Amino acid sequence: MGLRLLSNDVAIDLGTANTLIWMKGKGIVLNEPSIVAFDSSTKHILAIGNEAQAMVGKTHKEIKIIRPLRDGAIDDFEIAEGMLRSFIRRVSSNWQPARKVVVSVPSGITEVEKRAVRDSCENAGAKEVHLIAEPMASAIGIGMNVHEAVGNMIVDIGGGTTEIAVIALSGIVVDESIRIAGDEMTIAISSYFRKNHNILIGERTAEMIKCSVGSAVPLDEEIEIEVKGRDLVSGIPRMIVASSIDIRDALSEPVKQIVDAVLTLLERTPPELSSDIFDRGIMIAGGGALLKGLDERLRRETNLPVHIADDPLTAVVRGAGKVLENISEYSSVLIKSTRY
Ligand code: ADP
Ligand code: MG
Repeated sequence: MGLRLLSNDVAIDLGTANTLIWMKGKGIVLNEPSIVAFDSSTKHILAIGNEAQAMVGKTHKEIKIIRPLRDGAIDDFEIAEGMLRSFIRRVSSNWQPARKVVVSVPSGITEVEKRAVRDSCENAGAKEVHLIAEPMASAIGIGMNVHEAVGNMIVDIGGGTTEIAVIALSGIVVDESIRIAGDEMTIAISSYFRKNHNILIGERTAEMIKCSVGSAVPLDEEIEIEVKGRDLVSGIPRMIVASSIDIRDALSEPVKQIVDAVLTLLERTPPELSSDIFDRGIMIAGGGALLKGLDERLRRETNLPVHIADDPLTAVVRGAGKVLENISEYSSVLIKSTRY
């Protein structure tokens, strides 16, 4: 009836690797890497997201590329804010800024970092900013009933951080956040080739190797791949053949640290909730959940059922989106704001 202004309310998963935006009534409208290319002298932003990603490793000295949220919090405030502002602007229609924003943040974030996220959203035009802890958003996105008096364990393995939490009665009962996740796995692969084969490989190559042949348990059929890089001694491009066994070996340290963090949190979980987790098992999400055999590895080490979330890379934004669409039902799961 009559003319109604389009609502541009959004939910944002500001991930260390990927930013996703959910628009009220529409669903996911943006899914791009959290990367910014800028002029190193003026700090003027040249490209963000996919466009900046395509420039990685191919820039000249005036252009710098960074991932402003590398370890899960806002590392380079100014650049992060510029990125967030242009992503929000890109999905907003009619130049109407997003009024209400629900944004997920790592559960271990400090007050100062929360303030930075809030300010960034407000500077991007938001009038009402709600923060939600990532594992809570993930759990809601996966479809867990976070309000019931039953414990659910969620492990979200992103780029910069792994967030593990036990959720019950709309709150996080215990949690662990470690700075070991997908990036550390990628770095482990690069160092493996440098140390064992004297070959330098690019970050994108290492990530591609991780996603295609990386694993956490022996595979039914081990795979071989050709890896190209620069010989550290001769300086000439070279190709070597590596197997999934080598790559698993390279990944063993970060994978072990993630498994250990899960075991530590299980030890810290109150017994009534442990018994719920015994029945329901552990849910894994985030891009790292896609590492081959990670679910099996966790199953073997915990003796618990382990399930990979459907579409693990979008769980957080789907959860934050659900909260945005039903804000009154979910007000109890939001992080209480401390205004000063
Ligand atoms: P964030 O929430 O920190 O932005 P994401 O949940 O988007 O992170 O996950 C990104 C991470 O998941 C990256 O490190 C990426 O390399 C990793 N990843 C994506 N797909 C796979 C795969 N198939 N196997 C292993 N790791 C993967
Ligand atoms: Mg994430």
